[in-house]
Amino acid sequence: MILYTLNCENDHGFEAWFPSSSAFEAQQKTGDVTCPVCGSANVHKQIMAPSLGAESVGAGKKSEKQSVVHTGENQAEMRSMMRQLSEHVKNNADYVGPKFAEEARKIHYEEVEPHGIYGEASADEVTDLKEEGIDVHPLPILPDDQN
Ligand SMILES: [Zn+2]
Repeated sequence: MILYTLNCENDHGFEAWFPSSSAFEAQQKTGDVTCPVCGSANVHKQIMAPSLGAESVGAGKKSEKQSVVHTGENQAEMRSMMRQLSEHVKNNADYVGPKFAEEARKIHYEEVEPHGIYGEASADEVTDLKEEGIDVHPLPILPDDQN
């Protein structure tokens, strides 16, 4: 069983168990994975990215504070910050897909040249990475980033 951290098109985060990653993809395609908050079937795995240090826009600030402000201007500000972070990561990092945890470890243990990556990780993998001292955070996907 794999626990995935998922997001719906309305930015609701939730977790769900699947027998395997292929089972998740099959259920996602048929619309059987729905958001418990709004019922949307437009859900996707949270994309994870390692903290890139000082040059990552706002990443450090965000992981220190868990609370998210949901009101007016702050939300617009937050979204613009998220957009910058998202663009920054995509412009400067390699997409490694489901091999994210493996690649993040290689970088952490200096088995490969340090480089920015982003990709998919299960909640279990994220927990393991954090226990190993590898700081990762979800990369926000904004609704208009999706086709
Ligand atoms: Zn939702």
